[in-house]
Parts: sequence; structure tokens; C-alpha cells
Amino acid sequence: MSASEAVTDTLRELHGRFAGVREGQPADYIPELARAVSDDFGLALVSMDGHAYGAGAADTPFTLQSVSKPFVYALALTALGLDEVTRWVGAEPSGEAFNAISLEHGTGRPANAMVNAGAIVTTALVPDTREAPAFQSILTCLSRFAGRKLDVDEGVYGSEAATGDRNRALAYLIRSTGALPVDPVAAVDTYFRQCAVRVTALDLAVMAATLAHGGVNPVTGERVVSPEVAAQVLAVMATCGMYDSSGDWLLRVGLPAKSGVSGGLIAAGPARFGLAAYSPLLDAAGTSVRGHAALAALSERFGLHLMRNP
Ligand code: GLN
Repeated sequence: MSASEAVTDTLRELHGRFAGVREGQPADYIPELARAVSDDFGLALVSMDGHAYGAGAADTPFTLQSVSKPFVYALALTALGLDEVTRWVGAEPSGEAFNAISLEHGTGRPANAMVNAGAIVTTALVPDTREAPAFQSILTCLSRFAGRKLDVDEGVYGSEAATGDRNRALAYLIRSTGALPVDPVAAVDTYFRQCAVRVTALDLAVMAATLAHGGVNPVTGERVVSPEVAAQVLAVMATCGMYDSSGDWLLRVGLPAKSGVSGGLIAAGPARFGLAAYSPLLDAAGTSVRGHAALAALSERFGLHLMRNP
């Protein structure tokens, strides 16, 4: 069997193994997300030579939600550099849920860019001018990571904009401590739009593979971010990407990862693979149940745990 047949076989096998899992619930605090099809389950993997593999619903569209956070963090790091970005948003695991009030005592600086508080600040750091509006730069950046032109699911955007008071409250709270450099309403609106960008599991695997490949999209060959920025983003994903289960995830799966409440999940095996899953049934931490199981199994199958000496 060729290496590529082996990958395809593995994805199909894991898809079959976990497709019957019925635990978890689709997110419903954003009403439009509750309409997701519970049976949808896709897996995708992209290698460093740009080969893409999929199983199940790997082409089914859904919205990025929090999986957008590492990529917008990459954009802010590229625009401003690590020292300036770190003045506004930290890099410490919060040990708290994604929507917690994770703000540093004294400064009001959010704990990290993977929780909502930090992601709103990250989005606010993206330069916003008349010629280059922040959301345009974000959409262009996300599209370059994916290797194709992405768009916004206006229904999901509208649904979150209509119900997103907790995120607005977070933004006002951060602003009250002087730790948000722009208008809270505008920052949160851009953040909602970035969360509503539509992708597939295959797109996510390409995006993760671009980080794993040192910032060069392995499918298009385009350099999207520098090797330094790719490494910085992966480091924060490793310590903070899974919120209050980041430690357990790193212990068991051993890869930088990011989950989102629409059911998307990515993991990056540096210099090896980008992995992605989509399944909208979520656990209590807002992570795809089937996605978690499948990516953990993929990491084990391919010996991807970063702390392991093969
Ligand atoms: N848009 C969602 C929110 O801000 C993203 C959260 C997530 O995916 N964990 O609540």
C-alpha cells in the first residue's frame, strides 16, 4: 500500500469508528448554529507536500468561529510584532472557559489570544484604515491560509450580532481598563464577522498545514506569514488553544490545536501535517466530540505527539 493510500485508509477507518458517537450538542447560544446537521462528520489531512486527504463531510461548509483566532493572531503579530501585541494580549493559559472574563489583575490585559476576550483585542489590533479596512485584511489573510477565496455566512453573522451581548460586555470591560485600543462595538462587530467566515474541513486542514509548514501554504506555495510568526501562533495554540482543557489535550494528543463552537477543530503536526475535523456535537468545553476523538487517534496513529522521541 502506498503512503497516500495508507492516509486515506486511516481517515476512512477513523471516520467509520467515530461517526456513530452521539454524545454532545450543537452550540445553541448562537441560534443559527443550532440548525447544524448533527450527523455531519468530516476529517481532513494535508501533508507538507500539499496533498489533501478527506473522509466523510470534508467539503461541508460551516463557520470558523474560534478557529479564526490563531489566524487573526498571526495577522496581528505580522503587522505589529510579538512585543507590541503582547502589550495588549498575554500568552498565559487562562484555565477558564472560552467566554470567561480572563483579564489580568491590574492591567486588564486578556490572558491570551485564544479566549474571546483576547481574540477581541487581537482583532482590534489589526490596522484599520479607509484604504485597508480591518475586516478586509482579515478575510484576505484567512483566504491565503486556506488557499482560496473565503466568504462570510451572513446568516450566522447576523445571528451572533443579534445575541452577542456577552462579547460586547467583555469588550466594554476591557475598554474600561484602557486595554482596548479601539471602539468596543466596532471591534466586536469585526470579530463576529471573522467568526462567521465559511470554511470546510479541507480548508481547515490547509490552514493548519500552513502553520505546520512554517507559514508557507503547502498547496499554493504562497508564504502567508513568517516562520517566526507561525511558531509563535503554534506555541499559543499548544498552551491555550483548547481553553481549560489545553493541558489535558497537550498531555494526551501532544499537538497545538484550536476548537470552535460550530464544530471545527484543527491540530498541527509541525513539519508533518495539518489535521482538521468537523462535527457539530460539542462537549461542555465547546469542542467537537467526534473531532476530538478522531484527531487524538490520528496523532497516535502517526506518532505526532510533540514530546515524544520516536
Ligand atoms: N463566535 C463565538 C463566540 O464568540 C466563538 C466561540 C468559540 O468558537 N468558542 O462566542
